Amino acid sequence: MPATEILKQHLIDPEICIRCNTCEETCPVDAITHDDNNYVVDAAKCNFCLDCISPCPTGSIDNWRMTPAAFSLEDQYSWSELPAQVDLGDVASAVEAIEDEVDALLTQAHAGAGGKSVAPSSALKPAINQFNRARPAIATVIGNYRLTAPDVDNDVRHIILSFAETPFPVLEGQSVGVVPPGVDDKGEKHRIRLYSIASPRHGEKPNTYSLALTVKREPHGVCSNYLCDLKKGDRVKMTGPFGATFLMPNDPAANIVMICTGTGSAPFRGFTEWRRRTMPNAPGRMMLFFGARRPEELPYFGPLQKVPETLLAKHFAYSRVPGEPKTYVQDMMRKQAAPLAELMTSPQTYIYVCGLKGMEQGVDAALDDICRGVGLSWAALRPDMRAGGRYHVETY
Ligand SMILES: Cc1cc2nc3c(=O)[nH]c(=O)nc-3n(C[C@H](O)[C@H](O)[C@H](O)COP(=O)(O)OP(=O)(O)OC[C@H]3O[C@@H](n4cnc5c(N)ncnc54)[C@H](O)[C@@H]3O)c2cc1C
Ligand code: SF4
Ligand code: SF4
Repeated sequence: MPATEILKQHLIDPEICIRCNTCEETCPVDAITHDDNNYVVDAAKCNFCLDCISPCPTGSIDNWRMTPAAFSLEDQYSWSELPAQVDLGDVASAVEAIEDEVDALLTQAHAGAGGKSVAPSSALKPAINQFNRARPAIATVIGNYRLTAPDVDNDVRHIILSFAETPFPVLEGQSVGVVPPGVDDKGEKHRIRLYSIASPRHGEKPNTYSLALTVKREPHGVCSNYLCDLKKGDRVKMTGPFGATFLMPNDPAANIVMICTGTGSAPFRGFTEWRRRTMPNAPGRMMLFFGARRPEELPYFGPLQKVPETLLAKHFAYSRVPGEPKTYVQDMMRKQAAPLAELMTSPQTYIYVCGLKGMEQGVDAALDDICRGVGLSWAALRPDMRAGGRYHVETY
């Protein structure tokens, strides 16, 4: 078979994709689309511009297959995992050459998080994509509490959902989809929105088939207002769970550095609670860098004060406290350069960044400075940590 007949096809890994819609919004030629199950790439439209690669928070978009015939959209919608690369026999060397070319381009495109996302080696294998729009899980609201002070305009709320009717297995760090009721102004069903799970795997209270979300009300936002206004007893259609890499190491010796702003704290509440409940004397250290405008706007400010420093070293950064200099998470990280640098030299350290997209650059620059201060190169360490499942970024 001549090499020219082989097609290089761009595909999305349905196991890792968190259905965040970023790639669909990014693709300049509308090659990416989705159904209730999967995000997929139309081989007839994709021109390999690679614009979608760097914004994808999971690296699930970075998948390629050499194939004699393109996988159709219907094929891709039905997948729960990517097909293996088929053996192309004689054309293997030609294929390898094309793959090398693709790899070189991808290395440039992956400037952001430093390569494909990989789960920590000790993390449990999560269940993913068990429920979709056509077959949602139904949760019942059992609590909805305001987390921010009454004078804060766009409140952040702690919403507790019971899955007593439909078991919904999750791990800390995964996200769930929420199906907002109703249609948009074009008469189409509202898009599913994603929310990080803010409770540990065995429930908001141990062994109670429940999970918590941390939701910020966005002005005019469809789903955040729907969630923030839910009352006890309301029923919610849920999809997922999603995410197979932004997971907690199950190893008690793992050091976990968590860097967040706002609702980015949600997965870290799950991480901290799981460790507190199941391994409170773990030798691994936990460090939290948490940024907000002021203490009144910082979700879980009160409960966090009660978490002992021996379990979790907490460093808050406030950017809008009257009379005080603006401090961001990266400033707090630089203040803690010595303990952070010590942790970064350990192969048992895992770093997680979650929150607003705008925080990535500042955090990256701080890690660069901290590494340089102890003779390490963040540019070299970052891809290594990423490939070893030790550096994770989830921003939205
Ligand atoms: C992996 C992942 C995890 C996430 N986890 C969380 C989480 O834990 N907690 C959380 O709160 N969010 C989380 N999000 C974000 C969440 O999915 C939603 O994007 C967010 O809640 C906003 O959705 P919405 O439907 O309320 O807003 P949309 O209706 O989608 O509106 C989007 C934006 O447009 C603005 N807008 C909409 N309509 C108008 C209008 N008429 N006039 C002016 N402005 C308008 C809104 O203010 C909003 O900022 C996560 C996202 C991802 C990808
Ligand atoms: S590579 Fe370019 S054309 Fe192809 S799906 Fe990504 S953004 Fe769209
Ligand atoms: S995780 Fe990546 S591939 Fe999946 S929807 Fe988001 S951007 Fe697209």
